[in-house]
Amino acid sequence: MKLDTRAMRHLASEDWRVLTAVEMGSKNHEIVPTSLIEKLSRLRGGASGVHRSISALAKVGLIARVKEAKYDGYRLTYGGLDYLALHTHATRKDLYSVGNRIGVGKESDIVVVADNTGAQRVLKIHRLGRISFRSVKSNRDYLKNRASGSWMYLSRLAAMKEFAFMKALYEEGYPVPVPLAQSRHTIVMTLIDAFPLRQIATVPDPASLYADLIALILRFASNGLIHGDFNEFNILVKEEKTTSSDGQESIKLDPVVIDFPQMVSMEHQNAEMYFDRDVNCIKRFFQRRFHFTGTQPGPFFKDAKKSLGKGGVKRLDATVEASGFTKKMLKDLEAAIKEKAAKLEARQASGEGGDEDGEDEDEDEDEDEDEDEGEEDEDEDEERHVVLGSESDEPIEV
Ligand code: ADP
Ligand code: MG
Repeated sequence: MKLDTRAMRHLASEDWRVLTAVEMGSKNHEIVPTSLIEKLSRLRGGASGVHRSISALAKVGLIARVKEAKYDGYRLTYGGLDYLALHTHATRKDLYSVGNRIGVGKESDIVVVADNTGAQRVLKIHRLGRISFRSVKSNRDYLKNRASGSWMYLSRLAAMKEFAFMKALYEEGYPVPVPLAQSRHTIVMTLIDAFPLRQIATVPDPASLYADLIALILRFASNGLIHGDFNEFNILVKEEKTTSSDGQESIKLDPVVIDFPQMVSMEHQNAEMYFDRDVNCIKRFFQRRFHFTGTQPGPFFKDAKKSLGKGGVKRLDATVEASGFTKKMLKDLEAAIKEKAAKLEARQASGEGGDEDGEDEDEDEDEDEDEDEGEEDEDEDEERHVVLGSESDEPIEV
């Protein structure tokens, strides 16, 4: 789903308050009754003001009316949650304007944004567990088996987990983007000016880059972690020009690792499988792309395990688990990531979508028949930055 910020500036502070009320109501209600929205938004203008805001929000697709319910009500849409997160980031001055989408990942949208100083940043919007309302119609059981609002819950968990890992890794000196802020299902981080390994045709010294990547896998392991998706899409390669003392210029390739929602502990029950998969991913890629094969076998999980926490190395798996993740949260998230991966594989196997470059235009684009998406503008490549902020600048707590 594309992030469309056009309506953002036209929302008044009452509208934000009502949108926030719908979000609050969704915690306990799949469909938030209008009466509850009125109560939670506590507008000075009373019910008529709330109704005006509800219409305005529904018109731009931030909330959607659910007609077939036992009672009159609304639910928050993906767009509504995006707006709330953006509004929070803007209020906290984590970002000021929103630019182009640069990537559609497996479970996310990646958008270039800027802060007040014009510095470019990346906004990662997690989109986990999104389901097509079209397919739900033909499969009621699917909806029944899902916890209410679970796409919201799962996407937020993915963002929280990714942010927690990125922070722990960054503080430990790993080459990762700087994690700057998190709100709901989104993260703001620094923009890495580099291409994914996937897009790099040749490197001057494959052996050295290979060694660096294997060293990273082992370093993760010594900190108690496995990346879990250590592939050519999630490794960005920065070119650092260096000049030696005799004036010789050379280029050093520095990998930067991204994408952490699926990271697992070295103590995970399937740790060995995940570890081997990461290692083999790199090996296979280097063989295919650069015709390079390392001279040494391995590295092997059992050896990596011996290095766990050795020499006073911090256990980052424990650090993250201590940062507020319950076992249930991690399990829910893992299940959702697996489900999505299985779906993707099935689609690739059937030759449908999911092309080689990992572009995954989501099949669930038409999320809801109730939503009027408006006209799609396909100006993806055009430079455009939309400044956030509502017409009324009264800050609200969201
Ligand atoms: P997903 O979990 O959906 O795979 P990723 O975090 O891997 O999402 O991001 C998808 C793509 O977006 C990456 O392959 C990369 O090209 C780009 N990207 C993500 N984060 C950054 C960043 N901080 N700087 C530059 N490019 C990024
Ligand atoms: Mg990725």
